[in-house]
Amino acid sequence: MTCIGRFAPSPTGELHLGNLRTALASWLSARAQGGRWLIRMEDVDGARCGRTLGEAQLRDLAALGLESDGPVLWQSRRHGAYQAALQALFQAGSLYPCVCTRKDLALMGSAPHGEDGLRPYPGTCRRRPLPFLRPDALRFRLPEGSLAWTDRVLGPQQDDPARLTGDPLLHRRDGCYAYHLAVVVDDGAQGVTEVVRGTDLRGVTATHIRLQEALGLARPDYAHLGLVTAPGGARLGKRDGALGLALLAHRGVGAAQVLGWLGWSLGCLERPEPVLAAELVPGFRWARVDLGPVAVPPGWCG
Ligand code: GLU
Repeated sequence: MTCIGRFAPSPTGELHLGNLRTALASWLSARAQGGRWLIRMEDVDGARCGRTLGEAQLRDLAALGLESDGPVLWQSRRHGAYQAALQALFQAGSLYPCVCTRKDLALMGSAPHGEDGLRPYPGTCRRRPLPFLRPDALRFRLPEGSLAWTDRVLGPQQDDPARLTGDPLLHRRDGCYAYHLAVVVDDGAQGVTEVVRGTDLRGVTATHIRLQEALGLARPDYAHLGLVTAPGGARLGKRDGALGLALLAHRGVGAAQVLGWLGWSLGCLERPEPVLAAELVPGFRWARVDLGPVAVPPGWCG
């Protein structure tokens, strides 16, 4: 089976080093397997996203030599596909309307899950007899039980999605489709076989797998990459939070040097030295990708 990888940024700001590392890893993995690599713009939440920001992200990726093998998919143009998926889930009895407000959810005080700070939805409306109205907040009725998958970086994983996310919201009252729905529908529609993303999304993977099952979509392989941190291991501060190509160029660090450091951090090089993306392909193996966080070189921070 041909590998189809993808990088799916949300165009809410400039791509930072963590995003660029994820993009490069997904590109390298697809290239090393002789596969295809796609870029998808996750601008489903139009209010927070912008076409201009998305185009700037595409330019940054191109500056590193990372270009989509097919047309870039913009989620803002995919509402018909998301509606069709909701319809299928509705017909299967997998959706229910939810009238909980943010305040209700806060008062319910469901404990944030330690790992990701997620608050699982406690299922209040699942047990309420509510009519379906239009537009409605709609949740996916998660089937019971935990499930297992093997992460390419983290190894064997087992999660109970009900404890991590609870029944996810797929459609908001304001008419917006949710990330969980859009990501699963689009990975399916694009035939994606390998999802590479930040470790902050590990905790929603089991929920995505359950949705794939409900929609009859194939399960891709998953790889969750560790964070990029400040030199001491602390989170990148506000000042360096958006450490992206523009700021690095301003500090005298060019694209080839960034690629060398990213490639080295992914185990492709012995030393960080300026390279082209294609030069990293022969050295790429998932087994060489360390699961821990990786700290940026001290000279790169302000
Ligand atoms: N759009 C998400 C982000 O930028 C990534 C989604 C995914 O890779 O599944 O964090």
